[in-house]
Amino acid sequence: MDGPVLRARGLVKEFRGFRAVDGVDLDVAEGSVHALVGPNGAGKTTLFNLLTGFLRPSAGSVRLEGRELAGLSPERIARLGVARSFQITSLFAELTPRQHVELALAGRTGLGWRFWKSDRALGRFSGRADELLERVGLADHAHVPAASLAYGRKRALELALALALDPKVLLLDEPTAGMGVEDVDRTVDLVRRVRDGRTVVLVEHNMNVVASLADRVTVLQHGRVLAEGPYAEIRRDPRVVAAYLGD
Ligand code: ADP
Repeated sequence: MDGPVLRARGLVKEFRGFRAVDGVDLDVAEGSVHALVGPNGAGKTTLFNLLTGFLRPSAGSVRLEGRELAGLSPERIARLGVARSFQITSLFAELTPRQHVELALAGRTGLGWRFWKSDRALGRFSGRADELLERVGLADHAHVPAASLAYGRKRALELALALALDPKVLLLDEPTAGMGVEDVDRTVDLVRRVRDGRTVVLVEHNMNVVASLADRVTVLQHGRVLAEGPYAEIRRDPRVVAAYLGD
């Protein structure tokens, strides 16, 4: 289809009169990796939550291949094809990565929690679950409690859970937050490997990660788009440099 796969127009989110997102237009091209960057408080997380339905916009629209998403629930939006990586805090401590992924696959087909107690029902998804765990490098850790996974592996599991939804657009919220250099490099490789031509939108602080992954970058400041373009252009833009120096 022509045009952007994901398109936001005039997005606004007000918190008691304060505009955390203040009229944002965003075009995400199909098959691209699009980074949202900007100084702390710029509105990145709020925008991310608007795109995934975790917040309702005060005004504006978000369309996936032309279909309006604003006002739909996060579950509905995920099923229509916009899935986010979940936060580690949402993992179940005693469940294994394999069980997490099986549940995500069951949820996608609408079986969900009703079948949680039924090993046989979940067993339907074990083949696909193993495949996904292999893809994110967790095959050797498929059967340990999630709580015992190292931090980087928990993040890889979140990625597998998002991929289980087979989304058109994968949203990654700071995939390298809190990681040391090695884990950052591993995560960049992982995102490259698993995305498989899929459209990715990521919020990312680490500019090296943005440089290595992103085709296009949208820079936010004070809830507005300050600049948009390829990373090589953006990084030289004097307005962007000033914003990062605390202008
Ligand atoms: P970023 O992710 O770029 O750091 P955020 O989207 O988290 O920025 O925040 C943008 C602005 O909106 C900040 O000033 C923040 O304090 C404010 N904000 C975010 N969420 C809320 C909320 N639930 N209520 C009030 N203000 C909020």
